[in-house]
Amino acid sequence: MTINLEIPKKFEQLVEQAHAAAAEFFRPNSRKYDQAEHTYPKELDMLAALLDGLSASGNGTGAGGVRRGDGKKDKEQGNRNGSNLQLLLGTMEMCWGDVGLLLSMPRQGLGNAAIASVANDEQLERYKGKWAAMAITEPDTGSDSGAIRATAVKDGDHYVLNGEKIFVTSGERADCVVVWATLDRNLGKAAIKSFVVDRGTPGFELVRLEHKLGIRASDTAHFRLDNVRVHKDNLLGSPEVNTEQGFAGVMQTFDNTRPLVAAMAIGVARASLEETRRILEESGVVIDYDRPAQTQSAAAATFLQLEADWEAAYLLALEAAWMADNRKPNSLQASMAKAKAGRTGSDVTLRCVELTGSLGYSENSLLEKWARDSKILDIFEGTQQIQQLIVARRLLGKSSSELK
Ligand SMILES: Cc1cc2nc3c(=O)[nH]c(=O)nc-3n(C[C@H](O)[C@H](O)[C@H](O)COP(=O)(O)OP(=O)(O)OC[C@H]3O[C@@H](n4cnc5c(N)ncnc54)[C@H](O)[C@@H]3O)c2cc1C
Repeated sequence: MTINLEIPKKFEQLVEQAHAAAAEFFRPNSRKYDQAEHTYPKELDMLAALLDGLSASGNGTGAGGVRRGDGKKDKEQGNRNGSNLQLLLGTMEMCWGDVGLLLSMPRQGLGNAAIASVANDEQLERYKGKWAAMAITEPDTGSDSGAIRATAVKDGDHYVLNGEKIFVTSGERADCVVVWATLDRNLGKAAIKSFVVDRGTPGFELVRLEHKLGIRASDTAHFRLDNVRVHKDNLLGSPEVNTEQGFAGVMQTFDNTRPLVAAMAIGVARASLEETRRILEESGVVIDYDRPAQTQSAAAATFLQLEADWEAAYLLALEAAWMADNRKPNSLQASMAKAKAGRTGSDVTLRCVELTGSLGYSENSLLEKWARDSKILDIFEGTQQIQQLIVARRLLGKSSSELK
């Protein structure tokens, strides 16, 4: 199979639509909701309804489409560009508009991606149209998600959940939260399962919302779970503890979502590059693609280097999504794309502030905001260091206990 790095023709219209939505709904509201932290961006309701319509017709850009297809059917169809690539391209365009607002889009949460990836048919139907956040992180558990302390104890037809969850994106606004908890800490990672907890379930208490450096339009919640009872049918995936399979079930979601976080970084970095090019050209800087960078002005040479880095991140993200669409194992490529794009997003947006000087630093342009917004993309869904660790383990054939 060969990979074609052009945007597939069938997705061109979607990319245009996503770009138009980002320009019309996100950009004009970017500064407003950066300043009005924790205020729900009501302008998103109409856009979310439009996206729901597109998703229902199978043309959506939302978090609903990351399920892997049926192997036999895929083989018959041959090389394909599917929902992973579609979602990736849509995410890039939307984040060209605003990352914080994309993360605030109703019904497009990380929990929705988890449900789309691992829920059974009955659960898919039950949570259709619901907005789902994802709660993995705890006060003592960040990068090492295998160290989760929240517990789930079986009690008849229910599980009883206890623990604390922090930094839950969209936690306050979502209809439900996918909570990771362990059935038995002694059984290690294999005993970690995810449970859908509906907001308003007794004992599921919102402690506070965080104030943040960037993506301030997005709410980030801290929860306490005090004897929260959820029905056994709210467990996503298999209830069995399979020590052979280990963490594979719950981690599967990341192969789909890491390329999307890469896409967010690629989108915001492209916004910065475009604005910086405009400012540089207005001040008389010529960026020439036919001459070696070292023979051009320092600003032009830096810009060319940033664009090259951006391109590398873009291509890695396309590859990871394309592999998922073609049912090829893509954990390595998903982490490579996330590592490269996460770092490139931060580097590019900050260097753009540097290149444009006082203009870039002031609130007269969005450049300073994009530099703040991009940092999170190198932290959540696995930090830069964790992605590098995963890549190293895969390349060297080492297990997580051999290389940590
Ligand atoms: C705005 C925001 C939104 C978030 N949204 C969500 C969400 O929706 N759901 C959710 O569950 N979580 C969410 N998170 C949490 C996020 O995923 C974690 O912050 C992230 O996993 C890192 O964990 P930590 O902050 O505990 O850092 P730590 O794990 O304590 O790491 C601290 C530093 O040490 C480094 N480090 C850790 N281990 C190693 C190692 N083995 N080798 C080398 N370096 C290492 C890390 O890379 C990092 O630089 C969010 C966080 C933020 C800030």
